[in-house]
Amino acid sequence: MKKAQLLALSVGLAACEPKAPPADLVLRTGRIYTLDDARTWAEALAIDDGRIVFVGPNAGVDAFVGPETRFVDLEGKMVLPGFHDSHVHPVSGGVELGQCNLNGLSTREGLFAAIEECAARTPDEEWLVGGGWDLPLFPGASPHRSELDRLSPDQPAYLSSADGHSTWVNSRALDIGGIDATTPDPPNGRIERDPKTGEPTGTLRESASALVSKHLPPLGPEDYAEGLKRALRMANGFGITSLIEASARDRTLEAYAALARSGELTARVRVSLTVDESKDESQVDELVEMRARYQAEGIRADAAKIFADGVIESGTAALLEPYVDFGHRGELNFKQEVLNRLVARLDKEGFQIHVHAIGDRAIRASLDAFEKARAANGPRDSRHHISHIELFHPDDIPRFRSLGVVANFQPLWAFADTYITDLTEPQLGPERSRWLYPIKSLKDSGAVLAAGSDWSVSSMNPLDAVQVAVTRRDLRAPEGPSWIPEERVDLDTILAAYSRGGAYVQHQEALTGSLEVGKRADVIVLEKNLFEVPETEFHRVKVLLTLLDGNEVFRDASFPPNRQSN
Ligand SMILES: [Zn+2]
Repeated sequence: MKKAQLLALSVGLAACEPKAPPADLVLRTGRIYTLDDARTWAEALAIDDGRIVFVGPNAGVDAFVGPETRFVDLEGKMVLPGFHDSHVHPVSGGVELGQCNLNGLSTREGLFAAIEECAARTPDEEWLVGGGWDLPLFPGASPHRSELDRLSPDQPAYLSSADGHSTWVNSRALDIGGIDATTPDPPNGRIERDPKTGEPTGTLRESASALVSKHLPPLGPEDYAEGLKRALRMANGFGITSLIEASARDRTLEAYAALARSGELTARVRVSLTVDESKDESQVDELVEMRARYQAEGIRADAAKIFADGVIESGTAALLEPYVDFGHRGELNFKQEVLNRLVARLDKEGFQIHVHAIGDRAIRASLDAFEKARAANGPRDSRHHISHIELFHPDDIPRFRSLGVVANFQPLWAFADTYITDLTEPQLGPERSRWLYPIKSLKDSGAVLAAGSDWSVSSMNPLDAVQVAVTRRDLRAPEGPSWIPEERVDLDTILAAYSRGGAYVQHQEALTGSLEVGKRADVIVLEKNLFEVPETEFHRVKVLLTLLDGNEVFRDASFPPNRQSN
């Protein structure tokens, strides 16, 4: 049906209906992209008791205006369903914001200056702790302890990389961790070493970081709760109303429970419980118990997170064929038989399984495990999903749809930054590199797409990722060729991944994900209509207002307050 016909139909209906009960809040004169099945545009929206009670033309909303109704004149601004971030680390990221925060520093000089400043700011702290440094700032993604010894001579220093898979430590920290030339690499971890002497260089990969991190001063419950509050403020400011916590154990779960108790949990949350790589399926009983304990506190902790492999840049992602320079293929964190048994057991217990898989072998191993679980337990509405999904073997693309597995991309990573040009493509060669982040191919295969930031690994702003998904170019260098342009997607596709797709993977599409009568009022107002601004400007468009269940959880200072109707 054409838009004009739709409007006429709605007006006709409104005219012959009795006056509706007055709504709490009315938004009108907007450009409302509802993201319903037909992708209807509307002008006005009425909200009562946290629910959407009307979506349609301006004329139709008048019936919902009573003396107590507040209203917002949108003056043509865009309205969307609240964004769903389907892979994010709000608690650890929020804690990091309060520590030595090294995110977004693009030069070594800038990074060193920031570290020096942190050391000067907290001279009395036992440790210098922080994170967010970018791997490509150092050859081989391996910073040296000697540099950190200079920047932080007195305090032991522990600085996580932005992707969380490597840690840079100084000599004092290595001493405290008891790491020297004779220390063996722990399972699923690597101590980077001087090739001649075997001495540790100061970069620890994956589980090797724990040799030092177990000596860090413990944080208290209030540190985690404060971190989560900081992160939620940021999320609401970017228009995020639903999120999937990508990896949680007790301390993180406690933070969600604390905010749920105090009424400060300003997003719909599903928590993925971290599966321990050092154990097999026998750990599932413990996860079942944990799920029940936190569900009693009002937290949906019914997902399990499996780290199938590491990352390509440091050679810890599992590939089907060897890395060009490293020579090896990387390791799966679980042997295939263990992964199969673990996935089958989790699936049987009704967990939604959320996998971290980056290399083509890890993606295949995960799909194989899902296939086996389905054969063993029978199909159910599980909506398992795989995050990151960086490198595909093309044969595995159609399997997402056929197995009902959601493709959970982090689209912000899909352009030729130095992670790609210096650390990834040289290790894969051109033929395999074609299949990095094939978002359009997944969409065309009929798979459900979801999207997330993986913050604090990278920017939490969904509009940064929306822009890269559409352009496959650097946000800051919008000119020039797209990277693998055939994998660009259109604006509707990526907005749907951030709304409908996210709601689907959270099993909450009856509640949210689109703006339709009867759904909860998770609604955002953007200063401009994304369909009318150049695609290279999406990341500059500000969110002005964020409503969760009809309640305001963010309002930009420039956006005028609601008015009363008389
Ligand atoms: Zn993550």
